[in-house]
Amino acid sequence: MAESDVSKNARDLADSGGGMAPQQQEHPGATALMEPAPDHGEQSWVGRGRLEGMRALITGGDSGIGRAVAIAYAREGADVAINYLPAEEDDARDTAAWIEKAGRRAVLVPGDLRDEATCGEIVERAVAELGGLNILVNNAGYHWARGEKGLRGLTTEALDQAMRTNIYGMLWLTRAALPHLGRGDSIINTTSLQAYDPSVTMIDYAATKAALNNITANLAAELGPDGIRVNAVAPGPVWTPLQPATKEPEAVAEMGRDTPLGRIGQPAELAGAYVFLACPAEASFVSGTVLGVTGGMPVF
Ligand code: NAD
Ligand code: MG
Repeated sequence: MAESDVSKNARDLADSGGGMAPQQQEHPGATALMEPAPDHGEQSWVGRGRLEGMRALITGGDSGIGRAVAIAYAREGADVAINYLPAEEDDARDTAAWIEKAGRRAVLVPGDLRDEATCGEIVERAVAELGGLNILVNNAGYHWARGEKGLRGLTTEALDQAMRTNIYGMLWLTRAALPHLGRGDSIINTTSLQAYDPSVTMIDYAATKAALNNITANLAAELGPDGIRVNAVAPGPVWTPLQPATKEPEAVAEMGRDTPLGRIGQPAELAGAYVFLACPAEASFVSGTVLGVTGGMPVF
């Protein structure tokens, strides 16, 4: 079978030196500063109406995996609200332009998930402007992997930011969204390969992602009787702003080389998992599971 354009582009990039060039930028990072530019499926995703008429809220939807999911959802027929940090307005506007180009409604809801009241406001604004909610993608995430490694190098500031973004914010946002979700709707959480194969450089982050797996199973049990499915996607190494914004340049350059497929993934290569899990027809009996998209690293 022919290799897809996305995987061919990704492999070509990886082949052109084994990985990405070492680079660094300030958190939360900007797509425009990345070299080479990531592939979010702008030229490749073909919609088949799988999410026709649905309404989605995607956190971290401005860039990276969230942007690829936003583009795919819009082309599959969904209206899409994206949440992001106020500093990411440029990236958010680019994502919104792609959603609108697909003929769908784009709603921008900036706000910091580390604040409980803000989480409630994000949901209320998204629901008001979309006219309801069918899919919640908890995709925002934070890690810090610069400086001294491991627990010895863990600062309280980084620990607090990871826990509040990845766990507290996700729980606050989801709790606020529950009254708006019903039969056929779903929640998708972005976890990580780190939940299964933790790096010494990210002890706090890996723990939050393992917790997200646990929360996915627990919420699936709670919400199943209401006909609401809850799943997760566990990405392996993916070329997104989070990486140069939080890792050492040398670590960025190494990403993906140790996977069986031997390369870093592109955000576009993650979108299919999120479309499948959100699709009421295709994934109607799929709940409480974690789908790995890791370049071959095991997630069991
Ligand atoms: P990204 O930088 O494009 O996306 C992360 C987003 O998180 C940011 O765009 C930002 O909008 C959002 N965010 C961070 N802190 C926030 C806060 N306090 N309030 C609101 N939003 C906040 O990078 P990405 O790699 O696409 O990340 C998406 C998800 O994928 C994250 O949960 C990340 O942990 C996970 N992940 C990424 C990789 C990878 O290699 N890139 C691997 C495994 C898991
Ligand atoms: Mg971003």
